[in-house]
Amino acid sequence: MPQQGTCTVIVGCQWGDEGKGKIVDVLAEDVDIVARYQGGANAGHTVKVGEELFVLHQIPSGILHDGKRCLLGNGVVLDIVQFFQEYDALVARGIELDGHVGVSLRAQLLLPYHRLLDQASESSAAEKIGTTGRGIGPAYEDKAGRRGVRVADLGNAERLAKRVGEARERTRRRLELLGAKGPADLDRAIDEALALGPRLLDIACDPGLEITTALRAGRRVLLEGAQGTALDLDHGTYPFVTSSNTTAAAAATGTGIGPTWIDAVVGVVKAYTTRVGEGPLPTALDPDMDEKVRQLGGEFGATTGRPRRCGWFDSVITRYASQVNGLTGVAVTKLDVLDTLPELKVATAYKLPDGCVTESFPADTWSLSAVEPVYETLPGWLAPTGNVRRLADLPRNARAYLDRIEELTRAPVQWVSVGVKRSQIIPVG
Ligand code: GDP
Repeated sequence: MPQQGTCTVIVGCQWGDEGKGKIVDVLAEDVDIVARYQGGANAGHTVKVGEELFVLHQIPSGILHDGKRCLLGNGVVLDIVQFFQEYDALVARGIELDGHVGVSLRAQLLLPYHRLLDQASESSAAEKIGTTGRGIGPAYEDKAGRRGVRVADLGNAERLAKRVGEARERTRRRLELLGAKGPADLDRAIDEALALGPRLLDIACDPGLEITTALRAGRRVLLEGAQGTALDLDHGTYPFVTSSNTTAAAAATGTGIGPTWIDAVVGVVKAYTTRVGEGPLPTALDPDMDEKVRQLGGEFGATTGRPRRCGWFDSVITRYASQVNGLTGVAVTKLDVLDTLPELKVATAYKLPDGCVTESFPADTWSLSAVEPVYETLPGWLAPTGNVRRLADLPRNARAYLDRIEELTRAPVQWVSVGVKRSQIIPVG
């Protein structure tokens, strides 16, 4: 296959919230198309442009650059109401969206009953997953169960009414089983969502065709993932994961292109580790340090405001991410957050309860709560890095820290982010 353009995947390498939005925003400047390949409105990217802060949930952050085409692939579940709220809010802030945003005809719709089911099943579950309660899990369940409603279905009123009618009935039965009540206005909420159908059909498209045509014409494409590797449905800390494949291979399935079109995979790695929701975090900090790093890094969820748990850099997970995603490079974010810490720990391996030491990420999620990280300690740099724009100008200890991350992760560091602003980025090499 002739490879004329370039196709890069951006993927999170920890538990999400690595700062992918910022890296996509920076890299989007040099591309023509940015496409999202999975997830729903449970993901939130926070991007600062000049003095303005944007929180994007469904529309790719590439939209904050003029003239880019931003696509939502078949792998996403689209909350139609929230999507248009986000769309209209961006238009109101002067962002040009007309003709710049497209949604796959094959994308699944997330409708009001999915949200209801999500909240009802999470509150009745003995073991909580820590979902955002936005209906993402039930929407993907409907997709796998072949009961879902896709964007293309909006074009056929009869088929749409039948599929939604069946879903309504199923929802009623499920809620009854879960001992939850359906709100009286569910029908109205569904009708309101579906009333946006014609508007969605107006921007519906075939991203696979569009992207491959663009690549053949020599254009540059970014494929953007949501969440992170440890939240991947297959490769993450199951069952405390999201309900889609977040890893790089899903960028092909989730947009409708062949994997041979992808020529680079950039892993976004935070300079420390965070986790929101339930499930083990092996390098978790002690409570005082946890609070300190959370405040320094502003570690509160973009979608829910939930505080994130913080931990030392864990190379077991980033090395695993390097393997699972086939990373060709790494973007390290939030280095500046560590500027004031006198020393930093990095986990190089895990000691298992039986005393064995492993450098590999265990498949048994529960064993992860019993592992003891093997740390090495590096000196901090105790100097501000936010104004640094060249690698050579970073303090020596900061460079040594990055070198160690690179070595342990087994992928070259290509960018270092030292602040929320677009300009606060250091290209490496
Ligand atoms: P995403 O979903 O992976 O894009 O991550 P989030 O947007 O949820 O979280 C990243 C947060 O870190 C956002 O508030 C960003 O503005 C912020 N951020 C990104 N890169 C940097 C950085 O290099 N330094 C600092 N201090 N903040 C950053």
